[in-house]
Amino acid sequence: MATYFNQDCPLCDNPAEYGEVDDGNVKYFECPHCGMFQISIGAEKNLAKELSHRKAAYSMHVKQTPHDNLFSIRLPVHEFRQRSDDRLQAEYAPKSELSLTCR
Ligand SMILES: [Zn+2]
Repeated sequence: MATYFNQDCPLCDNPAEYGEVDDGNVKYFECPHCGMFQISIGAEKNLAKELSHRKAAYSMHVKQTPHDNLFSIRLPVHEFRQRSDDRLQAEYAPKSELSLTCR
């Protein structure tokens, strides 16, 4: 039985719920305003501080999520850093490539 937690959405600040995936490194949010998305613990910290001006845009992306995808916000992985110097890797990912089972 998965555990869910209440927390204000890191994108729109409305009350939302999340479950933990990826051994607790990623929060799988369900926000009544934005929708479903995933954000890693590290990315959430960045977004709350120096990148907070992006929250509204990310919320829009979540609302427009294509079928069978999730908007995923992470700290950049190595391959991403080779094509971008962005401090967050925020993009749609097929659900099949993500961890979806909350612990
Ligand atoms: Zn939200």
